[in-house]
Amino acid sequence: MITLNAISKWYGSVKVLDQCSLNIKQGEVVVVCGPSGSGKSTLIKTINALEPIQEGEIFVDGVSIHDKNVNLNKLRSRVGMVFQHFELFPHLTVFENLCLAQIHVLKRAKSDAAKQSIKYLERVGLQAHKDKYPGQLSGGQQQRVAIARALAMDPIVMLFDEPTSALDPEMVGEVLDVMVKLANEGMTMMCVTHEMGFARKVGSRIIFMDVGGKILEDCDSASFFEHPEKRLPRTQEFLSKIL
Ligand code: ATP
Ligand code: MG
Repeated sequence: MITLNAISKWYGSVKVLDQCSLNIKQGEVVVVCGPSGSGKSTLIKTINALEPIQEGEIFVDGVSIHDKNVNLNKLRSRVGMVFQHFELFPHLTVFENLCLAQIHVLKRAKSDAAKQSIKYLERVGLQAHKDKYPGQLSGGQQQRVAIARALAMDPIVMLFDEPTSALDPEMVGEVLDVMVKLANEGMTMMCVTHEMGFARKVGSRIIFMDVGGKILEDCDSASFFEHPEKRLPRTQEFLSKIL
């Protein structure tokens, strides 16, 4: 579904991704963790070409995203992305937030976009709030709207970059519940998160990145949690701080 072939990226002379390779199969939930500055956000943003790379190659659903003939808008519409800060359009209602890209990017008829929007607002339990503006919602509700907005585009994969880390603790659960449900329904997901409870419950694989943009570990979630002693010392040290 997604393949990264030895990708590297520099900001000026600083290498922030170092020969990262990764293969995500359909239905997998890949959890990415690691210390601040290790390149987790950069890595995830390369997948929908929000961050250019200087070396290596990325394939989404068999298509190289660096191909000159690739329509980036179309690619991005198939790769759902949810960030730490919800990035909803503040001047649009919840419902309008969901409809916008469906109409303008996917060229859906307004009535189809409306149906799809309601369907996904129901899925995240926010149909009653459809006419509110983002500023009238809690952080957890806004993040659920952001997830519904991404899902309404019928993505083939969902990328999450620390979707709960800007939330008050009491709102983390409602967002994780939506993500767990998605994972259990078979959505292919890549999530940067330090929520190890989530990783343990639904993660298929855990990636550990370290400063310098290296993927140090890529292992299945069961062995990651059942045999932490088999992990690299660097990974164990990190885990001991967050668990
Ligand atoms: P965090 O856990 O704090 O979110 P991260 O693992 O997501 O960190 P990135 O945001 O991907 O890390 O950053 C990786 C490295 O790239 C860091 O050293 C950062 O300072 C650097 N960096 C990120 N964005 C830029 C930029 N626009 N210009 C220059 N350097 C950048
Ligand atoms: Mg980050």
